[in-house]
Amino acid sequence: MADTRAFLERGNLQSLIDTIRDAGYRCVGPQSRDGAIVFDTLTHVDQLPRGVTADQGPGSYRLGHGGGQRFFAWANGPQALKPLTFRPRETLWRVLRDRDDRLHFEAADAPVTKTAVIGARACDLAALYIQDKHFLQGECADPSYRAARQELFIVAVHCTHAAATCFCASTGDGPRAAYGFDIALTELNDGFVVEVLSSRGRDLAAGLETAPATPVQLEAAAAAVAAAAEAQSRALPAGNLRNLLFARLEHPRWEQVAERCLACGNCTSVCPTCFCSAEHEVPSLDGSHSERTRSWDSCFNESHGRIHGLNVRAATSQRYRQWLTHKLAGWHDQYGRSGCVGCGRCISWCPVGIDITEEAAAICA
Ligand code: SF4
Ligand code: SF4
Repeated sequence: MADTRAFLERGNLQSLIDTIRDAGYRCVGPQSRDGAIVFDTLTHVDQLPRGVTADQGPGSYRLGHGGGQRFFAWANGPQALKPLTFRPRETLWRVLRDRDDRLHFEAADAPVTKTAVIGARACDLAALYIQDKHFLQGECADPSYRAARQELFIVAVHCTHAAATCFCASTGDGPRAAYGFDIALTELNDGFVVEVLSSRGRDLAAGLETAPATPVQLEAAAAAVAAAAEAQSRALPAGNLRNLLFARLEHPRWEQVAERCLACGNCTSVCPTCFCSAEHEVPSLDGSHSERTRSWDSCFNESHGRIHGLNVRAATSQRYRQWLTHKLAGWHDQYGRSGCVGCGRCISWCPVGIDITEEAAAICA
């Protein structure tokens, strides 16, 4: 494929999966599972959620079947790319004790599989950019994240169906993916406009049976993405959220939202940018070795604020304030941008329907 804007017939989508797998990647793509769209190993186009839609609202996520022949007529599911690079649970290192009671330390070095993901959204790529800043920059780059990240090939799909919870247009992160992908697709009724961004994307796309995209197809693709932006009704408040939030640390709304918040941590689990983790010592029963594991944690967990026998965030209001002010204010100082990419997952998957845009608006008003 010579053109960076080509057209792939719907019936030829299997060739993308086959080409990815022939190149040695484990192909991962969206599938309908247990009432949600999740990413899992993909070998055939029939596994994709053909015709599936996803209605989302505060505390609500329901799959429907009004998407016709389309594979990507939904905005997002509970996962983003986060589990592919920052594993929910992993062993970091282990220590072995020999017969003379000497300790030997070794890195865990979990095997990394070359992975290609189909269906990453603009918000997912913006979140990946933030996670790269957290895990890869500076002197303490995370070896596990770096190994998985280097082997990740990304086929993005520009959003043409925003959910009611989406507000990526207001954060400037979507619905069109602008960076961070190898190949991007825009789904139309009869197929996909294909864009190539990287050299490895170009190499892989050369194996696809495409035709040059026509002006009509390019126009339809641009219009569909623009319509997804216009359909979004939520937004974060305008203005300097960092300064507004830091000036309102004693606002009564923190206590009010804490009356509803269950401190369950669902919002942080589904958030594609959250990166809190906890380490645990896991000794073997015979005392011969011990493993140091890392698993996702949440600033909503009671244990996360425990320091030297004290809890610096004992109240739910303090934990909610920590989450929101870190995400929307403190990240500007740490990573040069907000920690929210407008995916809306924390709104849909909050069991009591707490809406970050509503809370931010009430506090900043
Ligand atoms: S805070 Fe909520 S809307 Fe923002 S990136 Fe995280 S899950 Fe998405
Ligand atoms: S805001 Fe919602 S999802 Fe987050 S901890 Fe509170 S109840 Fe759970």
